[in-house]
Amino acid sequence: MDIKKGDLVLVISGKDKGKRGKVISVLPAEEKVVVEGVNIVKRHVRPSAKMRQGGIVEKPAPLYRCKVMLICPRCNQPTRIKHTFLEDGKKVRVCSKCKEIIDRV
Ligand SMILES: [Zn+2]
Repeated sequence: MDIKKGDLVLVISGKDKGKRGKVISVLPAEEKVVVEGVNIVKRHVRPSAKMRQGGIVEKPAPLYRCKVMLICPRCNQPTRIKHTFLEDGKKVRVCSKCKEIIDRV
């Protein structure tokens, strides 16, 4: 999985196409990501101690990683992710547009 929690991504397909948001969780086993404000689903919630009235809760549902593109924090463009190795052997992500290392090292 090349997308990480905290990344800013652009949605490239589906009903939220064109939306940008921050990745709030990553599900590597399912190849899915959860993006803030994207793929919102409404859930009916039964009354509980927490929500006495019950009602409708809106929350982002996971979407496939292939439906989003990383927005490079350096050049602010949606980009493909490349990988490179640093001198110490650490694998880092690189923006294919500006060639900058995306990961903070
Ligand atoms: Zn870039």
